[in-house]
Amino acid sequence: MSDFHYEKGADGVAIITWDVPDKSMNVMSFEGLEQLDAHVAAALEDDAVKGIVITSAKKDFAGGMDLNVLASLKDSAGDEPAKAVFDGIMRMHGVLRRIERAGMDPKTLKGAKPIAAALPGTAAGIGLELALATHRIFVADNPKAKLGLPEILVGLFPGAGGTTRLVRKLGAMGAAPLLLEGKMNDPKKAKAAGVIDEVVDDPLAAAKAWVLNAKDSDCVKPWDMKGYKMPGGAPYHPAGFMTFVGAAAMVHGRTQGVYPAAKALLSAVYEGALVPFDTALKIEARWFTHVMMNPSSAAMIRSLFLNKEALEKGAVRPQGVPDQKVHKVGILGAGMMGAGIAYVSARAGIEVVLIDAAQDAADRGKAYSEGLMDKAIGRGRATKEQKEDLLARITPTTDYAALKGCDLIVEAVFEDPKVKAEVTAKAQAVAGKDCIFATNTSTLPITELAKASVDAEGFIGIHFFSPVDKMALVEIIKGKETGDRAVAKALDYVRQIRKTPIVVNDARFFYANRCIIPYINEGVRMVAEGVEPALVENAAKLVGMPLGPLQLVDETSIDLGVKIAKATKAAMGAAYPDDAVDDVLFWMYDQGRLGRKSKSGFYAYDDKGKRTGLWQGLADKYPAQDDQPDVTEVQHRLLFAQVLEAVRALEDGVLMDIREGDVGAILGWGFAPWSGGPLSWLDMLGAARAVELCDGLTERYGKRFAAPKLLREMAEKGETFYGRFAPTAKAA
Ligand code: NAD
Repeated sequence: MSDFHYEKGADGVAIITWDVPDKSMNVMSFEGLEQLDAHVAAALEDDAVKGIVITSAKKDFAGGMDLNVLASLKDSAGDEPAKAVFDGIMRMHGVLRRIERAGMDPKTLKGAKPIAAALPGTAAGIGLELALATHRIFVADNPKAKLGLPEILVGLFPGAGGTTRLVRKLGAMGAAPLLLEGKMNDPKKAKAAGVIDEVVDDPLAAAKAWVLNAKDSDCVKPWDMKGYKMPGGAPYHPAGFMTFVGAAAMVHGRTQGVYPAAKALLSAVYEGALVPFDTALKIEARWFTHVMMNPSSAAMIRSLFLNKEALEKGAVRPQGVPDQKVHKVGILGAGMMGAGIAYVSARAGIEVVLIDAAQDAADRGKAYSEGLMDKAIGRGRATKEQKEDLLARITPTTDYAALKGCDLIVEAVFEDPKVKAEVTAKAQAVAGKDCIFATNTSTLPITELAKASVDAEGFIGIHFFSPVDKMALVEIIKGKETGDRAVAKALDYVRQIRKTPIVVNDARFFYANRCIIPYINEGVRMVAEGVEPALVENAAKLVGMPLGPLQLVDETSIDLGVKIAKATKAAMGAAYPDDAVDDVLFWMYDQGRLGRKSKSGFYAYDDKGKRTGLWQGLADKYPAQDDQPDVTEVQHRLLFAQVLEAVRALEDGVLMDIREGDVGAILGWGFAPWSGGPLSWLDMLGAARAVELCDGLTERYGKRFAAPKLLREMAEKGETFYGRFAPTAKAA
């Protein structure tokens, strides 16, 4: 079965249609590439063919390269993986370059057959790179279509000529947001940015008409003409020089140098700009190979693309449970979380009953959705009709009778077991026995809360992160008695609201909070020891954490930290290890410095709540030692505080699937995405080296850094997490 079909029209236009069998979205494979090349070759050789249109039979054009294929290219290449990747990429360049030159005489620049791309919808990655190699790009006037090169978001950069062509087409400045941020645009914006040529009602008809009328000069790319100059100037042009200096600084500022793809992309752009086009493609292929060979890129692709997608598609869903799609959800508590959960549910087309103790609180919860929709309308991302439809789906009320007919209830009232038990009983008295009951608690054990439920099997934790509309992860927690239908219901719901789920077992702080609290604590502990707070914060950022631990505690609020510390200490008694941390936190609390919300915390803030720098009072209370630790030492403390907790979670059976440990860490608390997650990072380091580092940290700072038994055993056996815990293992 072929991915591309060829058809020659009586008008002399050959149509090459992309239609990968059994897939809703086209993706490129190397077999597909060869089929495309054979069709292009046939059309170029056929005198009866006047021009070619490349299009798709699906509603979109293409989603990109099949990353599984790309990964296997390297993995199956034996001793020379780099050569295999480089050769594969150069073959791709060859095919696209044949399309671009289209039989043109290189001396006279005449005789090319016009080739146009007709895109019915989205074209991402190589989907757009293929179009960029044609002579003119027509896109359907479809505001839902997205056009762009998102490779950077999974640890790669556009390596099928997209980097070289876009920079030559738009200049480094124009191409920067598309390449460096992976920005996807709708057709009109893509046209305004100069990425595509025409937005039309019928791209196929328009493309056909164009190829029949195109002149020789329409089929020569500017970079194939004599005297081509890059828009905005090449690196040694005075204007270009400024662009490149600025871009290098900006990329380094954003990535802190830890993302190999961003650096490689910039090198490919810079070096490519100094040489002729075909040499630039070779340079692009070299840098692409360099990135593919970097373990960080492989780990990012694995976690941020392959495994994230697998989890979203139900990799850990219990088998044999019929579809549990949610039709009507009841949300108890219309506060910060309840309001957010109502919004994402209504956005997914689910009917929502939003309950609070007082009507005005319930109304405020609904108003939150209104505010978000108004913002979206202001940005041109939603219409008034969509807002009205969404709001019509939310019923704010104090009346529990409205919960009748709900097939899922999500409780998000105060973090108090008594209040939660009360609302659970009230809601279950109304909702039918088939209704699954979920709690959004962040700290209370699910198994305990389930005792207030009439049906522990149908009781589960669905833990959202704040702000609910932005955070992609949802942690699903199984209590001791939670049954498969509840797990399936939670997973199907998370899929409906288009978020990424992980399923974990019940234990203190579940998974994400369990790992993030030690990170915050380690940072605070260092302050108590006299480590410069700026060193702590910068070390964290330099290793790829989005927020330093002190900023993070300011964001989540210091009173919450104090509350959690008190509850943990009460639960652990004499074994509680964090008194040194509490000294600092409780002192801050006593000073009334509660974090960003009080415009005072570890950082100082201006009247508008903008951070103005670390708070000087901290240095007065906890003077810096003369001898400051090495930045790597600080980073190891901060990273190991998190990753050892992840290993313990796996050891304890809280984590059932390592993919969830890695994907959950990146999406849940932003764990250094370049690493692919905590377990991927340990694999990169090697278990033996990790144990050696743990031993040193234990000696210097205490037994919280002791290597877990599992890690030690893996070190002895020379194992890796991804080797030992096969990623296809089923959880849940
Ligand atoms: P919140 O204080 O903003 O909202 C709680 C809401 O519940 C309030 O509107 C309150 O009026 C309502 N409520 C209280 N008692 C009620 C009752 N008997 N009947 C009906 N409504 C009642 O709190 P929040 O931040 O939205 O947190 C809610 C839950 O979500 C907590 O369990 C919390 O631990 C959890 N959670 C919070 C976060 C976070 O970042 N804030 C993150 C994950 C989970």
